[in-house]
Amino acid sequence: MFKSIYPYTQELIAEYQEHTENEIATKLLTGEKAYRELLKTPLDKRREWMAGIATSMRNNVTEHATIITREMGKTLKEATAEVLKCATTIDYYVENIESILQPRIITSDAQKSYVSYEPKGIILAIMPWNFPYWQVFRFAIPNILAGNAGILKHASNVSGCALAIERLFTESGFPMGTFQSVLLSSKHIEPIIADPRIQGVTLTGSTPAGKSVAALAGKYIKKTVLELGGSDPFIVLKDADLKEAAKTAVQGRMQNAGQSCIAAKRWIVEQPVLEEFTAAVSDIIRQLKQGDPMQESTNMGPMARPDLADDLARQLGESVKQGSRLVLGGTHEGCNFAPTLLTGVTVDATAFREETFGPLAAIISAADEDAAIALANETEFGLGSALWTKDLEKAARLATRIESGNVFINAMMRSDARLPFGGVKQSGYGRELSLEGTHEFLNVKTVYIH
Ligand code: NAP
Repeated sequence: MFKSIYPYTQELIAEYQEHTENEIATKLLTGEKAYRELLKTPLDKRREWMAGIATSMRNNVTEHATIITREMGKTLKEATAEVLKCATTIDYYVENIESILQPRIITSDAQKSYVSYEPKGIILAIMPWNFPYWQVFRFAIPNILAGNAGILKHASNVSGCALAIERLFTESGFPMGTFQSVLLSSKHIEPIIADPRIQGVTLTGSTPAGKSVAALAGKYIKKTVLELGGSDPFIVLKDADLKEAAKTAVQGRMQNAGQSCIAAKRWIVEQPVLEEFTAAVSDIIRQLKQGDPMQESTNMGPMARPDLADDLARQLGESVKQGSRLVLGGTHEGCNFAPTLLTGVTVDATAFREETFGPLAAIISAADEDAAIALANETEFGLGSALWTKDLEKAARLATRIESGNVFINAMMRSDARLPFGGVKQSGYGRELSLEGTHEFLNVKTVYIH
């Protein structure tokens, strides 16, 4: 039985039965039929159906946002923005999918040779609760427009979101079964991965979950895309616009109550501006109003589950013991974790070594820019990063030295419909979004005409 619990009050809001083996067998059958039907539908039809989903989301935005807030606790404002971002992303792909799927002509000794991008079947998506709509749509929009079908195994605390997204597809005109949710515990995932109708697996979640799913997918030769954890550096050099950098650092760390893979988790600051930057971020953090996520005036909600807050408290406690200085926050009650600032964090501290998935910012001092880059790379992760300096030539040069899938210069690291998104090192492999992401689960077929 899956429980949905409102994190702010710990009220039980719904319970869901796991799907049985028979129900899952039916879903696989329906998914396969839907895929076969999709193969026969013109792209324009798929675009029309997808555009209808965007309209429906916009028309019912508060209803969808409320489901998100009630299940995982982000503010209603943040949840509304998330739903609208999905709709805007649909607009983008409806407009651009044709060019993304354009065959690539390659000159060879053939009369004509080219690569065409063709759907493969059903793709299994295993998704986390932190952006329970965005993570799913970021996978589903390009894949379903390209002709694949999707089965979603969502995180077990957001079953209401999983079913609401399934309904959007069911009511859109897409063949029945194009996009389905299975309510299933992770330990029962193997038979789905093994099923020959499943042609690929995409997982967004923690690194341990990625390892386990990739091992299973390897066993059955299924392609994977892994979007895993991160401990993004946010590098502030001494010539940065400190006011903007401070504002963006706090936003990048504290939004979604700090529960984002690409949150600015380690603020690496060049020594000469350390004091000024610390004062600036402290002022902004003090103004954050954490509390009831349904209230308009609240700008930080609770964390999603009490065990996650407890784990963050452990990381904080260890880091303080290891010599970090607690400047702000540090307390929590249930899921409500006060925005927290640590300074004097060193490479040995837990807040540096582990991913911190909550509202905890860590300031690390760097002697100079070379030291800053070395500290940025001193992690097993490599998802996003941000670099702040007014010297854009230097920024471009340093960007090549940062070991991450994304570098944002003088801006907040974020995912954008138009840009590929993904990581290196223990943050995973493969890409989502854009041309690279759309092609991941397509058959890149070479055609040679003699
Ligand atoms: P999680 O515990 O790894 O769960 C993610 C999803 O994987 C859930 O659906 C979960 O299902 C499932 N799962 C967990 N272990 C599994 C296993 N052994 N086999 C099959 N499925 C399994 O992660 P989370 O706590 O929900 O999310 C936080 C993590 O996700 C952070 O590390 C964050 O950085 C990462 N993340 C990465 C990105 C990115 O784009 N790179 C984006 C967002 C989040 P159950 O709920 O049923 O366990």
